[in-house]
Order: sequence, then C-alpha cells, then structure tokens
Amino acid sequence: MRGILQGDRTLLSQAITLIESNLAGHFQLAQKVIEQCVPYSGNSLRIGITGVPGVGKSTFIEAFGRYLTALGHKVAVLAVDPSSEISGGSILGDKTRMEQLATDPNAFVRPSPSAGSLGGVARKTREIIILCEAAGFDIVLVETVGVGQSETAVHSMVDFFLLLMLSGAGDELQGIKRGIIEMCDAMVINKADGDNLSRAQAARVQYQNALHLFPLPPTGWVPRVGICSAINKTGIQQVWEMVDEHRRLLKGNGHFLLKRAQQQKYRMLETINQTLTDRFYLHAEVQQQMPLIEELLTHSKITSYQAASRLLDIYFSNPRRQEDPGK
Ligand code: GDP
Repeated sequence: MRGILQGDRTLLSQAITLIESNLAGHFQLAQKVIEQCVPYSGNSLRIGITGVPGVGKSTFIEAFGRYLTALGHKVAVLAVDPSSEISGGSILGDKTRMEQLATDPNAFVRPSPSAGSLGGVARKTREIIILCEAAGFDIVLVETVGVGQSETAVHSMVDFFLLLMLSGAGDELQGIKRGIIEMCDAMVINKADGDNLSRAQAARVQYQNALHLFPLPPTGWVPRVGICSAINKTGIQQVWEMVDEHRRLLKGNGHFLLKRAQQQKYRMLETINQTLTDRFYLHAEVQQQMPLIEELLTHSKITSYQAASRLLDIYFSNPRRQEDPGK
C-alpha cells in the first residue's frame, strides 16, 4: 500500500492484477487495497477518448500522452474494451501499441481488463483509476472503442469526453450515434495532414455547426471541434488547451465536483441494479422454476406479466436462498 502511494509501478501493476483477477480470494484483498487508496484518489483529470477502430486513438494517445509528460504530468492510460475477451485483446491495449509512451517513466499504460461483461470491465477500470490516482498520476486517459455501450460506461467515469473523428467520410456525422455526440465535450478530427488537411478544416466547420443544434448543457460548456494529426503531432497542444479550459470553467462554476458526485450516484444505482439482477438469476428456486414458467408462457397458459410476477415472488419470498453466494 505504501509502495503504491510512493508510485512504485511494480506494486501498482501487481495491485491492478489483483483487481483484474476473478478469484474470490483476490477479490477481498483487492477491495482492501482499493479502500486504502480511496482517500488519496480523486486528484487527477480523467479524460475519456473514443472513436471507431482505425481513427487513430492509440496514435493520438501516444502523441497526447507524450505531450503531457513533457509538460511534467504523470499520465496513466487505461482502456475499456469488453470485447477483449472474445477478440483476444486485439482491439485495444495490445502491447505493441503506444511503444514510446509505454517506456516513458512518467507514463503508465495498461490494457483493458478482459473481464467479459461491460459492467465488470467498467467497474474494474474505475477501481484501477483509484489506484493510479493514489500512485500520483494526475492525468488518466481512458480509451474505448466507438461501438456498443462502452462509451456510456466511460463517460460515467471521466471529467472530459473526447470523440476522435475522421474527415472526408461524407457530410454526415459518419453514422456516429447521436447519443455519443451528445456525450462528448469535444470532437477532434484526426489525420488532418497531407491532402486531408483542407477536408478536415471543412469538416470542422460542418461539425461545429451541427453541434450548435444541440441544446447547451447545464455545465455551460459548448462542445468544441478541433483538428489534429496524431502522426505529425500537430494540433495536440490545442486539444490540451481545450481540455484545460473546460476544467477551469467547470471548476469555477462548481460543475466539476457536481459531475463527479452525479457519477458516483449513477454508479451506486448501477451497482444496486446489477446486484439485484445477478442475485435474482442465481437464486436456486428461480433457476428451477424458470423453465417451467417459460413453458406455461409458451403455451399461453399465463401472461408475461404473470410469469414475471411468479418468478419475482419466488425470489422475494426467500431472497437469501442462492445458488452461489460467493458470486
Ligand atoms: P485506433 O484503432 O483508433 O487505435 O487507430 P490507430 O492509432 O491504430 O491508427 C490506425 C491507422 O491510422 C494507423 O495506420 C496509423 O498509423 C494511422 N494514423 C493514426 N493517426 C494518424 C494521423 O494523424 N495521420 C495519418 N495520416 N494517419 C494516422
């Protein structure tokens, strides 16, 4: 524990491995370490970075991370990639990426926990953030791939959410889900180099206009559109200035802490929902009765509502009876 606070990276890595482990014995120990780190956490700026595969996330994070360490920051790079278990960890965080940053003494690069479910991966990542903060990292970058629900999970754990985009994919917002655009604090068009530069500049104007159609968020921050070339390392400083300006605005108007408090509340509710759901489905009698009730439902002997009520009644009549209380 003291080692983590002193920034010992080997100990930090070991503690993270403990968090990532699915063994019940490790779970208890990991929770103890996290509890001890909590009082020393919370002091970093947490930045989420998303975008479709190939947009240049790892190249950008390498350039951005190196820029920040050169300014004297200590940068931790984490990833949320619930698919990594299926894909073998190839989408995010494979070890050949971010080579320079990974060897930078002021940076710490860690691939996504491959816990399977998004809820599991997200929880572990939040716990890893706590450890990294306790170890003195003052900027935490959380990368996620621009598909599925993982953006929502990352959005709920960061102070600033950055969407990386490409220009030249038509006039539309590239099929990016509206929800993601509403979540982002900035869109940055990457690969603004060579022949692409003028297209990127044009796209920037279009995107900025499109963003103006969204209502102003309560934080008072109007999402920005920037351009950069992660490969040529241009526009990187401007991205940082934008993030910093956002931080100053939100710290000044109280929304920085308010947002974190809301995130904590969200996590509490999420944990309750998840726990209730897990326990319901693990309940021995529920598991036993489920196929029988499904059968009745299939033959229209009961309605869906009645089926659900019966199963819920079984659970609530004896909620403590579980298949595997350790899970
Ligand atoms: P990710 O899948 O989003 O992490 O994308 P990568 O960082 O792996 O980049 C995908 C490809 O785009 C690689 O071949 C990079 O070399 C290339 N790339 C990344 N950033 C830039 C950039 O700023 N300009 C150009 N021209 N290519 C880039």
